[in-house]
Amino acid sequence: MKNLAVLGATGSIGDSTLSVCRQNPTLYNVQFLYAASNVQKMLALCIEFTPQYVALANTEASAQLNKQLQDHNLTCQVLNENDVLALLGSEQIDSVMAAIVGAAGLKTTLAAVHAGKEIFLANKESLVMSGALFIEAVKASGAKLWPVDSEHNAIFQSMSASLQETIGHCDLKEAGVSKILLTGSGGPFLNKDLGEFSDITPAAAIKHPNWSMGPKISIDSATMMNKGLEYIEAKWLFNANKEQLQVIIHPQSVIHSMVQYQDGSVISQMGNPDMRVPIAHVMGGEKRIKSGVDNFDFFSTNDFSFVAPDFNRYPCLKLAIDACYQGQHATTTLNAANEIAVQAFLDERISFPAIAVVVEEVLNQLTPQKISTIDELLLIDKIARQSAADIINRGITC
Ligand code: NAD
Ligand code: MG
Repeated sequence: MKNLAVLGATGSIGDSTLSVCRQNPTLYNVQFLYAASNVQKMLALCIEFTPQYVALANTEASAQLNKQLQDHNLTCQVLNENDVLALLGSEQIDSVMAAIVGAAGLKTTLAAVHAGKEIFLANKESLVMSGALFIEAVKASGAKLWPVDSEHNAIFQSMSASLQETIGHCDLKEAGVSKILLTGSGGPFLNKDLGEFSDITPAAAIKHPNWSMGPKISIDSATMMNKGLEYIEAKWLFNANKEQLQVIIHPQSVIHSMVQYQDGSVISQMGNPDMRVPIAHVMGGEKRIKSGVDNFDFFSTNDFSFVAPDFNRYPCLKLAIDACYQGQHATTTLNAANEIAVQAFLDERISFPAIAVVVEEVLNQLTPQKISTIDELLLIDKIARQSAADIINRGITC
């Protein structure tokens, strides 16, 4: 049995991961659970999975959890932040589900990468932020990287073993790949009148037509910033250049992405839109395991459609694609500004169209710079967050 750490255990991906563990109880020992602050949910998970270690990033919540665990006579050890990083680097962990949301996941994901662990990567923001440094670290440590994001998992599944084995530095041209076709549903506002975008509420934006996800990625899906982040994620995971990456809107979310080869073949992975499918794929490794998801019924769908994205409707997608080719300073800035803008929208401080305005303004203030360390990245992230907050505090009229 492999020892598993679930980072972001109380979230949507955490739920799906632990659901796959329930389906396959002899495959993984749930050794460590980590989340932000949800004491009751973490306590329930500790009762069910009896991990050896547990942690909550919020210190008050962590103290409460410690007390509750004692009241329940549970022996799992509550760790602080430094202990978490040490544990992830130790022999006590084999595999890591990296599913913390946002830049908050960077340190732990990188700790697992540096320690050469098997990484199930859901936390796309960490790769978007640290790109080349992340991939270099994977190469140096020999960490085994598995893409969990449904599109990247689909692309991975549609590739030959030689490409899969060289993830991060694959040679797409040599393998005869002409294009990676990154599909996205277009979110809840694919057909909404553009004139009504200012009236979009957080509740409406969170309601994704096909997927059930955490709040941040749901808003990112509505703006299609999510596809933009995924575009950058695909560039790094598959070493793809501009000509080798294309975004296609496929509203039904049955095809989860495709790979087109120079002989004209297109290979795709399909299935019901449920994250337990890619999670079961990566957790099963070489072997297909149960995910708990029903097989897709081809007779239940009457339409498979595809359209090109309209950048007027999805300005965030354009900003992300442009940032991808400006460099690491730009993608780190884009990600940080987006996190602040999405939170401000969720808090009803800015309108839906203002998310893109904030991100664009922060990017416009940027001067090109070369990044060679994580500390430099973290500084850029901090400055971008402050700029976004300043822009929001000044007020935006849209
Ligand atoms: P979520 O909001 O449902 O869960 C986030 C988890 O991260 C929670 O457990 C939360 O407690 C934890 N967390 C937040 N800040 C933390 C911190 N500082 N320290 C420790 N834990 C912290 O989010 P989600 O939808 O599960 O998404 C998680 C990640 O997976 C994101 O990067 C997202 O882009 C990616 N992803 C999600 C989906 C999906 O379907 N939900 C699909 C593909 C990729
Ligand atoms: Mg995705």
